[in-house]
Amino acid sequence: MATPHPNIVFVFPDQFRQQALGCMNADPVRTPNLDRFAAQSLVLTHAVSNYPVCSPYRAMLFTGRYPFHNHVTGNCYSETRSRGVFLRPEHRCITDVLHDAGYSLGYIGKYHLDTPGSDDARFGEGLRGDGRIWDAYTPPGPRRHGIDFWHSYGCCDRHMRPHYWIGNAPVDQPTEFGEWSVKHETDVAVDYILNQERIHRVPGKPFALFVAFNPPHTPFDQVPPQYLDMYRHAEPEQLLNRPNLPADDGAEAARRWVRHYFAAVTGIDEQFGRILLALDDAGLRDDTIVVFTADHGEMMGSHGRMHKDVIYDESFLVPFLIRWPGRLPARRDDLLLSVPDIMPTLLTLAGLRRAVPPEVDGRDRSDIFLGKPGDRPESALYLAPKLDAPRRGKRGIRTHRWAYVVDRDATESDPKLLFDCLEDPYQLRNVAAERPEAVRELEATLRDWLARTGDPWSEE
Ligand code: CA
Repeated sequence: MATPHPNIVFVFPDQFRQQALGCMNADPVRTPNLDRFAAQSLVLTHAVSNYPVCSPYRAMLFTGRYPFHNHVTGNCYSETRSRGVFLRPEHRCITDVLHDAGYSLGYIGKYHLDTPGSDDARFGEGLRGDGRIWDAYTPPGPRRHGIDFWHSYGCCDRHMRPHYWIGNAPVDQPTEFGEWSVKHETDVAVDYILNQERIHRVPGKPFALFVAFNPPHTPFDQVPPQYLDMYRHAEPEQLLNRPNLPADDGAEAARRWVRHYFAAVTGIDEQFGRILLALDDAGLRDDTIVVFTADHGEMMGSHGRMHKDVIYDESFLVPFLIRWPGRLPARRDDLLLSVPDIMPTLLTLAGLRRAVPPEVDGRDRSDIFLGKPGDRPESALYLAPKLDAPRRGKRGIRTHRWAYVVDRDATESDPKLLFDCLEDPYQLRNVAAERPEAVRELEATLRDWLARTGDPWSEE
């Protein structure tokens, strides 16, 4: 007899690109646990990160709303508090809904949905080289959105010496650990799942656990040597197998860091395997929905770029693997899943369809997840607004065929890029000038998305 309210374990590393799953046959990377998990899961090949940076992704995941509706129109750091760029306590999040439905809620790892207060600079990571404070303390109460087990921090990139505010610890009492953050957070997740001391969650109640690893995010050199050893003897040119890397100096950073990036990926794979094992050991495998995804990808040299924030597949496509034994048929599907869709879809799968807040922008895709016919979106929105000028920056549309982007601040590059992702899967040839009819159609689709999501771009 299936439980009416399954547990949810939602694991999302930061900057883990879809190509870095071994089962995608793209990057030459070792991910044996994820490959096995993928064979038991629904694997989405077109899950996207609509605004591929940290805080906007997290806010879309939590609220089911697009950035101009949830106010997280950029990353959260010291200067964005006065602009109101942080997750509002009054917004109803997926965790609030689950909490009110009787779930125990756990959050482990990087939160990055709050802006730092005056004390956070002294007790968190402090001022960075860019003159900003990124780390933030989230106090118990409404800013934690129903999460009752807290082992988290705001935004701090010390992977080998992570710190956390644990439970009700006040701002001046973060706890530092001298081990790789992914390993540490997995230890905590395993304890939460096993709940042997019955202190992590209420026994017998369903639970939802969010595990937000920071790696494989930069700094790439902070990775345990045992994983780096697995790639030490590979030449960077062998590892960087995508045809869209420039042959000249444009990929220098990628050549330097690709081994470290893949090492972190393999380390995450190993630790994720421990989370799956804990579910087996606790006898919870069949009663638990497990998701593995990421907030965005990593360019790693493609198109001469590093990191994220762009519509190219290495940045925009994310892993999305979801397993619920006996309920979700294991298969691949090219559903174009946008981040705000995750909240209504998961809540519906959890038997809470009627509790989805009416203001949510995302659409419930649970029918498709369950292997039934359902409403399939034909496009996904891409956005990268400028913090101080929300009508500037970039907007775009991804369909199964096209990746289209308009950059209002383009100076040296083309302001409009159009790639035929079927004919040109590595997005090397801009065909905007030769396909005006496709541009017109995509412009109309973009206008619809902007109107639906409260985006001021069209007022320009
Ligand atoms: Ca991120």
